Formats: sequence, structure tokens, C-alpha cells
Amino acid sequence: MPSVHEQVARRLAGLAQRYTPMRQALVATVAAAGRPLSVPEILALSVGLPQSSAYRNVKVLIDAGVVRRVSGIDNHDRFELAEELAGHHHHLICGKCGKVEDVTPSPRLKRAMAEAACVVSEEQGYQVTGHQFNLVGLCPDCRRTTD
Ligand SMILES: [Zn+2]
Ligand SMILES: [Zn+2]
Repeated sequence: MPSVHEQVARRLAGLAQRYTPMRQALVATVAAAGRPLSVPEILALSVGLPQSSAYRNVKVLIDAGVVRRVSGIDNHDRFELAEELAGHHHHLICGKCGKVEDVTPSPRLKRAMAEAACVVSEEQGYQVTGHQFNLVGLCPDCRRTTD
């Protein structure tokens, strides 16, 4: 199984783009986070990246299909590795602070999602080929300060 960096390099090469040190730093930061990051968060974590080129290079990585945009409930775009590289997962979004977290589905959640897909198929006559599942709530930090 080729590493994430090898796969990204290959995708970029397919678009005649180089996997520059800055792009490698962006991918490494996003891959290590385990949750979607905003560009300011990416900049805070990878020292020395100039802001303007960070936005430009994130866009190149999105166009290459290796990074995807995750929308939360605020106006901040957040970015993570595409599911092909990161694996399928869901998101928990805090309705108060806007934080977005990854959730890897347990076997029980996978069964529940498959059941939900069956219900939609039967009730709407729609062939379901995938899903994006976001739950909105209060994160543990915000629960603590709300109590
Ligand atoms: Zn919160
Ligand atoms: Zn995610």
C-alpha cells in the first residue's frame, strides 16, 4: 500500500504539478490532525508557511482530489484528506464553538447507516451509493462551560 505522500505525489504528477516541500508540509499537517483544520489552524501548526501561498496550495490539493473541504456551521472552511486517503468517517460539529471532529464509525454505527440507506432506498426509490453524516451538538468543553 503506497504511503499518503506517494499517493499525493502521483495524483499531482497526473496534473503536471510538483509535490513541493510546501505541499508536503500541508499534507503532513492535515494528515496528522485527525480532524478538519481551517487555514489559520494549518498555519499555526506548520511554522513558516506564508498565508497567501497556503490558500493557493490547498486549492491545488483540492483540485488534485487529495484534500477536501468540510463545511461546519460557521463560515470557516476546514480541510482534511480526501476519504480515499483518510478512510471513510463522519463528523461531529459543536454548535457552540464550531469545532469539527472526526468520528470513525463503529461496527454498530455502520450497521445503523446501512439500515438507514435501505430505508431511503425503499421509501424514495433512490439508489444510495454513499453518505455524508454530520451530527451537530455540544462538544465536551462547551458542555462543561454551559452547565
Ligand atoms: Zn464546543
Ligand atoms: Zn473528517
